[in-house]
Amino acid sequence: MEIFAPDYYEEFKCIAGKCRHSCCIGWEIDIDSKTAAKYKKIHGDLGEKLNKSIVYENDGTVHFRLGKDERCPMLNSDGLCDIILELGESGLCQVCNDHPRFRNFYSHRTEIGLGLCCEAAAKLILGKSDKVNLVRLKDGNEQKNCNYEETEFFKIREKVFAILQERSKSVEDRVNVMLDMFGAQMILMSPLEWVKVFSGLEQLDEKWGECIFKLTLADKSVFDSPLPDYLQIPFEQLSVYFAYRHFALYFDGYDFSKIAMFISLSLNIVKWLCLLEIGDKGYIGLDGLANFARMYSAEIEYSDENIYKLQEMLAEE
Ligand code: SF4
Repeated sequence: MEIFAPDYYEEFKCIAGKCRHSCCIGWEIDIDSKTAAKYKKIHGDLGEKLNKSIVYENDGTVHFRLGKDERCPMLNSDGLCDIILELGESGLCQVCNDHPRFRNFYSHRTEIGLGLCCEAAAKLILGKSDKVNLVRLKDGNEQKNCNYEETEFFKIREKVFAILQERSKSVEDRVNVMLDMFGAQMILMSPLEWVKVFSGLEQLDEKWGECIFKLTLADKSVFDSPLPDYLQIPFEQLSVYFAYRHFALYFDGYDFSKIAMFISLSLNIVKWLCLLEIGDKGYIGLDGLANFARMYSAEIEYSDENIYKLQEMLAEE
């Protein structure tokens, strides 16, 4: 099986103790059965701590018991993982070892990427200046023929990437070309009505709720303004990331036009948050942009419920 990834993929490095939004806080972490069995055999202080920190549910799921402020009990006060400190990264369960990676599976290849919900990944992706390409990872095998539907799918997605990376146009214009390519027409709702839809979705972090609430009070100019020049390339990277990750929904039964609309809507929400910040502070840097993208990803991309609600809403059109 071939494995593909964006060309920045191998540059990723977890910033661990320096991470301000650690994935070890606020997320319930399931432990795969192989690792759970391994943890049971560990003795000493670590074994005792693991024993106290793991919950075995009746339905067979095993997870860490989150502590105060929903911290993983293995995250120490220096922001470092006690399991890694003692056993190295190979001691982690599958979820922790994998995060923030995501995978899309096709018949002849797997595509892997870095999820924007991780602040280090968000800064890496949005900070790239060159056009992103997909590369075959070293551990992949030689290409095999894929089926007709997938061949057509990859051709269409290639076109989408080319449109989104057409730097003679603004990102907004490129997104419109993508929508036109699929005959997609957004539901006739004002930006403010869309923001209100987002304020009604499931929320993980109250800071996200505050950002969306601020947007509901924003001046009309926030929604009408174009992206400043210095945000064009970061938003190109964001659009390509969304396309790479979400066009795979086609094989879950969503048509291309709905996926294109979802991408357009996602870009708009992040854009409006940035424009609101620019209105307040005069500028937004990579940190600020990556933070909004990270929140968007954690709240929407990583919530099956929210993705489903938005996709269903777009499918009503
Ligand atoms: S969110 Fe990313 S950078 Fe932060 S601890 Fe998790 S993997 Fe590391």
